[in-house]
Amino acid sequence: MFKRQLGKKILKVTIFFAMLTTFSGACKATGKDDTRTNETGKVKNIIFLIGDGMGVSYSTGFRYFKDNPKTREMDATLFDQYLVGQQSTYPNDSRYNVTDSAASATAMATGVKTYNAAIAVGNDQKELKTVLEAAKEVGKATGLVVTAPIPHATPAAFGAHDPNRNNMKGIADDYFDEKINGKHKIDVLLGGGSELLIRKDRNLVEEFKRDGYSYVTTVEEMKKDTSRQVVGLFAKAGMPKMLDRPDSVPSLADMTVSAIERLNKQKDGFFLMVEGSQIDKAGHDNDIVAAMSEMEDFERAFKVALDFAKRDGETLVIATADHSTGGFTIGSNGQYNWFSSVVKEIKRTPDFMAEQIAKGADVRATLAKYINLPLTEQEIQTVQAAARTGKQKNIDNSIEQIINTRSLTGWTTRGHTGEDVNVYAYGPESQRLAGKIDNTDQAKIIFELFKR
Ligand SMILES: [Zn+2]
Repeated sequence: MFKRQLGKKILKVTIFFAMLTTFSGACKATGKDDTRTNETGKVKNIIFLIGDGMGVSYSTGFRYFKDNPKTREMDATLFDQYLVGQQSTYPNDSRYNVTDSAASATAMATGVKTYNAAIAVGNDQKELKTVLEAAKEVGKATGLVVTAPIPHATPAAFGAHDPNRNNMKGIADDYFDEKINGKHKIDVLLGGGSELLIRKDRNLVEEFKRDGYSYVTTVEEMKKDTSRQVVGLFAKAGMPKMLDRPDSVPSLADMTVSAIERLNKQKDGFFLMVEGSQIDKAGHDNDIVAAMSEMEDFERAFKVALDFAKRDGETLVIATADHSTGGFTIGSNGQYNWFSSVVKEIKRTPDFMAEQIAKGADVRATLAKYINLPLTEQEIQTVQAAARTGKQKNIDNSIEQIINTRSLTGWTTRGHTGEDVNVYAYGPESQRLAGKIDNTDQAKIIFELFKR
């Protein structure tokens, strides 16, 4: 790397000296954080961030997306500065060798590879201990922060046990019923999915409240409340995506701040899992607009975790993905370009626009309102034709088609793909995660750090 970048770096340094501006800018541009310290030492807290579906092409695409187009050189993202390696993600499943979120989250939470759909159980369906449970056992506070329904696969694999991820009511019950040393094992639960906790057969929110938890449903309520234990549910199912989010709904970063403030009151430290849940959803939908904005939401949460860790000095921050989704490629159709500038001009997700149109909004007016690009008559007509089918999905796909074609965004599937994913880490013991690891190594390392 040094050889390759030497020429570039000399040029860069020369320019920077010539301009008599800060030298640190040159370090930053190489994508390395030279202020990184404390690579070994005591780990009191762990913040484990998972970008669901955040494959390598997403991280690279996000660099294009965030780059200042006025300079030829590509700026580093916040992630770039903390890259330590990659992990493999394959499951242990007789039917599949590409993972789903449940098997990968189980691997990262328990250190055991299992079958797709398994929630912290092995192939024998026996319950496996999770790193969140291990944290609770040694007296740490624990939290789950997501934008999906809170009993969704990724958080479930840390805080519940079930043979099947689809049993989300049973998973929600586990969050309340499964105790460690007679106490609830999850102190902070923030995300979507109120319909899965507040049900006819059981109202888990009332049960949590009876046991002393606060309950919040808006960003304002969340910020006002200072309880150590909280359930925050901000949507019936999944939370709205960043671009479509009303002011009352917290961002992933807002929820991460709130979780850390509460968990940090525990003198023995904490374990917090934060999921950028809907990067994956965008990938399944082949929606590059939502993919990039959900990456941004996730990056802001990562920054919250890093800022805390830098002040704290005893916090290990890990960010990674469970798998990639959609086969997103940067540059399609034999063209040697990918135009993130197109993506930046879309102000709401295609899902949002499609919903408006399906409810009767005018196609031309809706597209003009949320897409800051002069669309061709032909493009508008494809959406009008989709609107005539009356199906929101068709309208959504037709808008995505325009954006994918214009931006030269490629997709190969509506499912997951099996390539390795990036691992980012900062703080004490962060170098343990370096190099090529497996998703099971995450849990193995965390268990070890909690034992010390
Ligand atoms: Zn996933």
